[in-house]
Amino acid sequence: MLKTHTCGELRASDTGKTVTLAGWVNRRRDHGGLIFLDLRDRFGITQITVNAEDRPDALAVASQLRSEYVVQITGTVQKRPPGFENLELATGEIEVIAVNLEILSEARTPPFVISGTQSDDVDESVRLKYRYLDLRRPKLARNLRLRHEIVRFIRSFLYDRAFLEIETPILLKSTPEGARDFIVPSRMHPGHFYALPQSPQQMKQLLMIAGIERYFQIARCFRDEDLRADRQPEFTQLDLEMSFVEAADVMALIEEMLIKLSATLSDKRIQQTPFPVMSYADALAKYGIDRPDIRFGLELFDVTELVRGSGFGVFENAAAAGGVIKGLCYPNGASLSRKDIDGLIEYVKPYGAKGLAWIGITAGPDASGRYPAESLRSPIAKFLSLQEIDGIVRASGAGEGDLILLVADDADVTNPALANLRLEIGQRADLIDPHLLAFCWVIDFPLLEYDGQEDRWVAIHHPFTSARDEDWSILEERPGDVKAKAYDVVLNGWEIGGGSIRIHRSGQQMRMFQQLGLSESEVDEQFGHMLEAFQYGAPPHGGIALGIERLVALYADAQSIREVMAFPKTATGADLLLDAPSPVEDRQLAELRIAVREQPTRAA
Ligand code: ASP
Repeated sequence: MLKTHTCGELRASDTGKTVTLAGWVNRRRDHGGLIFLDLRDRFGITQITVNAEDRPDALAVASQLRSEYVVQITGTVQKRPPGFENLELATGEIEVIAVNLEILSEARTPPFVISGTQSDDVDESVRLKYRYLDLRRPKLARNLRLRHEIVRFIRSFLYDRAFLEIETPILLKSTPEGARDFIVPSRMHPGHFYALPQSPQQMKQLLMIAGIERYFQIARCFRDEDLRADRQPEFTQLDLEMSFVEAADVMALIEEMLIKLSATLSDKRIQQTPFPVMSYADALAKYGIDRPDIRFGLELFDVTELVRGSGFGVFENAAAAGGVIKGLCYPNGASLSRKDIDGLIEYVKPYGAKGLAWIGITAGPDASGRYPAESLRSPIAKFLSLQEIDGIVRASGAGEGDLILLVADDADVTNPALANLRLEIGQRADLIDPHLLAFCWVIDFPLLEYDGQEDRWVAIHHPFTSARDEDWSILEERPGDVKAKAYDVVLNGWEIGGGSIRIHRSGQQMRMFQQLGLSESEVDEQFGHMLEAFQYGAPPHGGIALGIERLVALYADAQSIREVMAFPKTATGADLLLDAPSPVEDRQLAELRIAVREQPTRAA
C-alpha cells in the first residue's frame, strides 16, 4: 500500500508513530518557512506540517503544491500544541510532521471549489460534466455512502429471510410497465430488436414458476420517459417476488424492512407504526393524490353536493358537468394580500384549473354561530347564500383568521390542483416537520382505467396484477369498478414502491389481455411464454419493487434523485461527462443494417 493509515484515522494515541499517508491536497496554507497542508482522502482530513528547518527538501515540494494535487507523505505523528486542536476534525488533536513528501499526480485548477463549505451555486451542467470532481465533495460523497449502506442493509435483511438474489437479463423483450421501451438492435438478427427491461416483472414471475419462492434483485430498469426531478431513464429498484403469499405478507415484510432500515440509517422518526393503510379512494378524497404527504393534516373537503344548483355559476356549472367542488383551509391565511392570494393560482394552473375561489374569515361568528358578510373577505361570497357559506365554512373547519380556497372543475383537475396547493401551503404555513418519516400504504387501486386517446382500457399497475377475488365476475361488464390486489408504499409524499398479487392462472391472464384490447395474435406474440408457463404449475405469487434512488434521496434530504446517483443524466437524458447519446460510425450502422433517416442532432 502507498499509505499506512487513512486520513481519518490518526489520534493522539498514535503520537510518535512514523506513518505514510496519501491523498489530495484539500488546502494549503503557506507561512513562509512553515507550510500546513490539509490532506484529504475518502476517510477524512489530516493536517500535515512541513517545516523548513527540519526538512528543506520537503518544504520545496510543499511550496509547489496546489489544491487537488495527489501526494504521498511520510512523517511523524505529533500532538498539536495546546490551543491549536481542531474539534471539528476527527484527527484534530494531531498533526503529521512531514519528513518526506512526494507528488504522485498534479492537478489543474478545478472548475469549482472542492474543499470547504458546500455551495450549490455551481451550475449543474458543470457539476455533471466534471462529475468525478463533484463526487469528491462531501455532500455527494456522503450520499453515495448512504446509498451503499441502504443497499447493503436491504441485501442482508433479505438474505436472512431466505431470499435468493438472482440477476435477470438486460437484453430482453418489451415488458409493459406503461412507459416507452429503449430498444437495442440485434446484429445477428437484422431487423430484430431487444428491449431493455422497464422492470424484471416477467422474469421474476417466471422465477416463481421455476420454484424459487423468494427472489430479489437490486435491478436496473430502463424507461424512455420525459424526465422530471425524480425520474431518470435508467434507475435502480429493489425488485422482489414471493410465492404462496397474499398482499398482507408482502406488505408486512417491506414494512419491517423499512422500519429497521430507518432505525439503522436515519436520524428521523417514523411518524406512525404500523404504517397507516389508506384506500386509493380515501387518498384522493382527502389529499387529492394517491401518494399523500401525511406529515401534516390540511385535508381537502368536498362541497359539491352543498353547492349543486348554487346561484354561483362557476360552482353550478362544474357540478352540473359532473365535476367536483373541493377545497382546503389555509390556516391564518385571511390576512394575505390580494396579490399573495392571486399568486396561489400558480399552484393550481399547471393542472388545468381555471381559477381559485376564496373566502377569508376576518372576524368571529355571530351569536348564531354563522359568519355574516361583514366578517368575510371574499369576491364570491355575494353570489352564495348564507346557508351555502355556512356549509362551506363548516366543511372546511376554518375559523377566524383562516382562508378557504376552492377549486371547481373535473375531478382529475380539481384533485391534483388542490394536492399541489396543499403542499405549497404546508410549506408556507410551516406545517411540515422535516424530521419525520411519514410512511403509508395505499391499497384498493382500480385495476383498469379508460384511456380516451387510445380508446381502450389500460392496466393501472401492469397487466399481470390480479383483480380482487370478488371482482373477477365483473371484469367484462364493469371494468371500471374492478379493484386490484395492488399496494403502493408512500414516504413523505413520494411513491417509493408498488407491487401486487399477480394473476397465476392462464385463463384469467387471457381474460385480462382481452380486456386490454389485445388480439389473440398480439397476446401470443408478446406474452405467449407467460400463458404457456402458467400451464405448467404456477404458484400463487406476488411482489413489489422499491425505487432505490427515491428512498436514498428521502433519507439524504436530497431534492433530486440525481444527487444520489454516481453518474446521472440530464433532464434531456444526456450524459454530459461521456457526451452520450452520440452518433455511431457508418460501419456500425451497416453491420446492423440500419439507416438513419434524419441527420443526427446533438443531445442538448
Ligand atoms: N414491476 C413493477 C414496477 O416496476 C413492480 C411490481 O409489480 O413488483 O413498478
